[in-house]
Amino acid sequence: MTRRVDVAIVGGGHNALTAAAYLASAGKSVVLLERLDAFGGAAVSAEAFPGVSARLSRYSYLVSLLPARIVADLGLDVRLARRRYSSYTPDPGTARGLLVDTGDAAGTAASFAAIGAVQDAGAWPGFYDATGRLARALFPTVTEPLPTRSEAKRLLGDDATWDAFIEQPVGAAIERTFTNDLVRGVVATDALIGTFAPPVDPALDGNRCFLYHVIGGGTGDWDVPVGGMGTVSGALWRAAVEEGAELVADAEVTSVTPDGEVTYRHGDSEHVLAAGTVLSGVAPYELARLMGSVGVRPEGAQVKVNLLLSRLPRLRDSAVDPVAAFGGTFHANEGWARLAGAYEEAVAGSIPDPLPCEIYCHSLTDPSILSPELQAAGAQTLTVFALQAPDRLVDEGTNDARRAEFQEAVLRSLDAVLGEPLADLVLTDGDGRPCIETKTTLDIEHALRMPGGNIFHGPLDWPFAEDDAPTGTPAERWGVATEHERILRCGSGAQRGGAVSGIGGHNAAMAVLEMG
Ligand SMILES: Cc1cc2nc3c(=O)[nH]c(=O)nc-3n(C[C@H](O)[C@H](O)[C@H](O)COP(=O)(O)OP(=O)(O)OC[C@H]3O[C@@H](n4cnc5c(N)ncnc54)[C@H](O)[C@@H]3O)c2cc1C
Repeated sequence: MTRRVDVAIVGGGHNALTAAAYLASAGKSVVLLERLDAFGGAAVSAEAFPGVSARLSRYSYLVSLLPARIVADLGLDVRLARRRYSSYTPDPGTARGLLVDTGDAAGTAASFAAIGAVQDAGAWPGFYDATGRLARALFPTVTEPLPTRSEAKRLLGDDATWDAFIEQPVGAAIERTFTNDLVRGVVATDALIGTFAPPVDPALDGNRCFLYHVIGGGTGDWDVPVGGMGTVSGALWRAAVEEGAELVADAEVTSVTPDGEVTYRHGDSEHVLAAGTVLSGVAPYELARLMGSVGVRPEGAQVKVNLLLSRLPRLRDSAVDPVAAFGGTFHANEGWARLAGAYEEAVAGSIPDPLPCEIYCHSLTDPSILSPELQAAGAQTLTVFALQAPDRLVDEGTNDARRAEFQEAVLRSLDAVLGEPLADLVLTDGDGRPCIETKTTLDIEHALRMPGGNIFHGPLDWPFAEDDAPTGTPAERWGVATEHERILRCGSGAQRGGAVSGIGGHNAAMAVLEMG
């Protein structure tokens, strides 16, 4: 039997939940269909290690791009904790490192000096003043209809900054501004998170990635979601349920037609919805498959490793407290030359060695994800995100072996810059196995249907429309259109939808409400 609804939503990630909450609160009948047994997609917490009471943010872990407007509109109980330390970067092969501490300007200047980068210390504030101007100009537009390229440039009102960050490879601006290899690398990582590109990327994929990493909240701060990432999706789930949306778990959508017919499997039976509008919270490639065509499979470029340690590792650098070093982003083997070399090695088909990695420690800022016993024992979580690890290095036949090789490469890379072997600190789970969880791009595709393990569902778009882009429909104006009038994108694949932000869901909901 076919059931009629105003809006059917495919997928139950945090963006889909956002759209459901907005549309149900506006009086639309909404049915959301999620193939897994829980909602939230890549924005979830999990007890990853059997018998260990630690609720880790399993995939995504930090929040920057969630607009205050969405939090206020939906009354979300989400608390984000700001971190004092921006980053620590050991200088490989030495006992020195660069600590960028937003609470201590003199200490930060001394740290630049210690790695021989006095000149770069002077250039740093100017560079980040420019990204601050971009953030203040562009972030307020992400929950509005798309500005055009010319309007966005006018809003910024600074042609030199526009040129450096939008028109020319951002890597060229980094090379021009900074001289030290380590400093250049620290800045460049924002262009390479989940994006497979060389540090100077003529295709500008690195620019788009960089932009979304520096504009969030109008400041570019990346905050820790208190309670773990699951609390963000949990708050959105609550809002959607309270507004009256029908959320169905264990419901795998098997086809979508251009006229709004959505077929899904739930339990042993098949169901059909006839929807006025269908919102796709799944990747564009996955939507194409559901509509019977073949899209371009995107490529992710990361390996994610979650660890539970008995305590923080010691550093080689006795001048820095591990609490400071792990209090922000810890960069391992992410110098400029290493990022470039790693890209070339991966293009040639090998796992980069040493593998550029960055680490973040949730439990230092927010111990609440650990049981009182683990907290009292001094246990800490570490999340490692390795760069330049493209999906092309993994396939169905090699995935298990590659996962083991990647895990080894991550531990080798970290051991090369730490003061003691990381493996010695890894706790064991209830079955006596080490508390290490490694996810390749293919693991992420298997778990979440993120094609190619691409964390943004595909290459990121600019947060503005080209001047000659069509703007005839609400969906086009909000950056959520597909080639079919009734089918809109509401997930990470929407223009401006990448990351944990709810922006894709918000914008799709606004387009539906404009459609009437
Ligand atoms: C390892 C990793 C680390 C990341 N780190 C960060 C970070 O720190 N900060 C940040 O902001 N972003 C991060 N991201 C990116 C961020 O998680 C994603 O951009 C975001 O989760 C996308 O949300 P979404 O709701 O659009 O889609 P998703 O989270 O991908 O959810 C889509 C949902 O659709 C479901 N689905 C798929 N196909 C079907 C079907 N046929 N029928 C029914 N349901 C279906 C899936 O099961 C999934 O639950 C990270 C991502 C990954 C993978």
